[in-house]
Amino acid sequence: MLINLHSHLEGRVRPGTALEIARAQGLPEPPQGWERAVQLDGPADLTIFLTKVAATYPFFSSWENVARIACEAIEDAAADGQDYLELRFGPATHARPGFTMDDVIAAACEGIAEGTRRTGMPGGLVIAMLRHHDAALNESVARAAAKQAGKGVAGLDLAGDELRFPALQPFAAGFAIGKAAGLGLTCHAAEAAPGHAALEAVERLGVSRIGHGAHMVDNPDILRWAAANGVVVEICPTSNWYTGAIPAIDRHPAPVFRQAGVPLVLGDDNPMQTRSPLSAEREILRQTLGFDDAALRRLDEDSIRAAFVEPGVRDRLTCRLHQG
Ligand SMILES: [Zn+2]
Repeated sequence: MLINLHSHLEGRVRPGTALEIARAQGLPEPPQGWERAVQLDGPADLTIFLTKVAATYPFFSSWENVARIACEAIEDAAADGQDYLELRFGPATHARPGFTMDDVIAAACEGIAEGTRRTGMPGGLVIAMLRHHDAALNESVARAAAKQAGKGVAGLDLAGDELRFPALQPFAAGFAIGKAAGLGLTCHAAEAAPGHAALEAVERLGVSRIGHGAHMVDNPDILRWAAANGVVVEICPTSNWYTGAIPAIDRHPAPVFRQAGVPLVLGDDNPMQTRSPLSAEREILRQTLGFDDAALRRLDEDSIRAAFVEPGVRDRLTCRLHQG
């Protein structure tokens, strides 16, 4: 099965769509062309990686564009053979006068719903608060997400530069709003910071899933704690390699997590930048990181359990797993 639980909408803009929107808006084309402006040729570092992701921001400028990008993300995932896609993005980055945060979120929900109508593949939206935004702005993001809980919005996340903004307390109020609305909670943590950041995210913010969590493997106590408490880690191997978080794809810590009994789920993070969709990430688990059939089955089961979906979708995914 292909259940995609960590994928950024900004990392799924088709180069052709980027070109069309750029021309329609009269955006000056970068010297290297739009395709090369948003894609990476190979491993780089986090700064270059984020520059490529940020190059897509001007395309999220209207309801129509956001809905189109979200719809195409669902279509591309379905074409990759995926069974469910959880898309995440930070609406505060794209809101502007005349295009409010509520509009940005509703447009993405509309695009996901349209993509699902076209393909039959379900999707959900996870709204990201950002570490470099102030507490008041992030609380308004959480409130906007909560308003559309159950109407396309499935979860709440925290993303951004963990090293420059390590404190979690400023985001506790936002996560409390999300929790009260019944949203699933996840947090990018221990991606750049030490493993302890994952424990803090779970204890202070109440999240059930950790995005990346690569440094958790540096600390055996944290690994034991995560396994004992069923803390789910969302892994994205190629993305970690391309950002320089790991020196080579075969050094990804997925086997260490697995050995320790930590539940894992898979994501493709930013497949337009890495050119590695979820089907390729799963092959990396199988061929490079030693996941056998039993380990992949456990990944599927943990993914269905951890997905921020309504019960009906979870039941359908469970049926498909048992049939497959
Ligand atoms: Zn991410």
